[in-house]
Amino acid sequence: MVKETGFYDILEVKPDATPEELKKAYRRLALKYHPDKNPRDGGERFKAISQAYDVLSDEEKRKVYDEGGEEAIKHGGLDDGDLSNSMDLFEKFFSGTFGGGSGAAGGGGGGGSCRREKQCKNLIHQLAVQLDEMYNGANRKLRLQRQVICRKCEGRGGKKGSISKCRQCLGKGVENRELKIAPGMVQNIEQVCRKCAGTGEIISAKGRCKNCQGRKTVRERKVVEIKIEKGMRDGHKIVFKGEGDQAPDSRPGDIVILLDEKEHSDFARSGHDLVMMRSLQLVEALCGFHQIIKTLDKRNLLVSTEPGQVIGHEVLKSIAGEGMPIYNNPVERGLLIIQFIVDLPDSISPSVVPILQSCLPPAPQVDIPNEAKRTVLMNHNPNARRHQHRRMSVDEEDASQQCVSS
Ligand SMILES: [Zn+2]
Ligand SMILES: [Zn+2]
Repeated sequence: MVKETGFYDILEVKPDATPEELKKAYRRLALKYHPDKNPRDGGERFKAISQAYDVLSDEEKRKVYDEGGEEAIKHGGLDDGDLSNSMDLFEKFFSGTFGGGSGAAGGGGGGGSCRREKQCKNLIHQLAVQLDEMYNGANRKLRLQRQVICRKCEGRGGKKGSISKCRQCLGKGVENRELKIAPGMVQNIEQVCRKCAGTGEIISAKGRCKNCQGRKTVRERKVVEIKIEKGMRDGHKIVFKGEGDQAPDSRPGDIVILLDEKEHSDFARSGHDLVMMRSLQLVEALCGFHQIIKTLDKRNLLVSTEPGQVIGHEVLKSIAGEGMPIYNNPVERGLLIIQFIVDLPDSISPSVVPILQSCLPPAPQVDIPNEAKRTVLMNHNPNARRHQHRRMSVDEEDASQQCVSS
């Protein structure tokens, strides 16, 4: 039992979430609530998500949190909820965890994110992928929006001749201002030039490009074709180098597609293996069975037992070569692991008991002592029992209070 679930609630997972589930939750939520995509909320939710993941993804910090809650973790290295820490975590996560990604990673899908940077931020997109698409391979199309250099003015913002250097900041885009901090004390501060909004240029209203309103870039729809190859995994990163946002005097950013594997109703993936559950009637478990399993490429597999072979409850069996194809080597495949669940009948007719006894291995002999007390087996419901317990302790309390008052 954990003391409190606040951090788990923020990541929308249960307190027994595996590191993989936490990673996946962070990936989804950090992209969704990235400040670039939610400029109005000031990154509050993003910071909370980062803080929660920072604690829960660290085995030791998670243990401290589970035992003592947020109060305990505050003494043991909770980051102070600064936005730059959250950004660092985001960059580390999206450039490191999934390999590749040199240089400037990070950045959500926000527009106009190229100002005064040598390289535009990458557009990171998550694509929901079904397990059978990762099994068979698939082609998908994704429509997204990016910022491109205005073709009409070639990124100048206006007609040649209509653009002049800003006289306020001398083209630097920033201006120095004197700020009085106390009588007789003045501090010099640097701020974005108010006249040119940091561009360093003034474009006359007459010459301003009508296509981009002087902004130099325009938003454009782009369709990317994504080839999902056999055996790709959750979190796989497909990079379209230089096909993201553009800005004048900057290297264009990349489009990064992250695959988000969805849960399947029949199969769960475990590395290269596929795991499934199958229920068996008692007669099938004891006397043998034939079952058909539909694979993810819609073939039929016949699963049978040998005569006399018994399958126990929750027993695991595997079939070679029927798991997931291995990425980059799809002729090789993992295992298909089947867990059998044996359904027992609720009751049987007393008349067939002797027949069953005659063919099953004998039950152990029990010597019944003379004084043995006869008991009744009732159906047991663990939750009901806890209730009963609580009621009992309340009654006891009531009784003791009566004693004091009388
Ligand atoms: Zn233009
Ligand atoms: Zn200026």
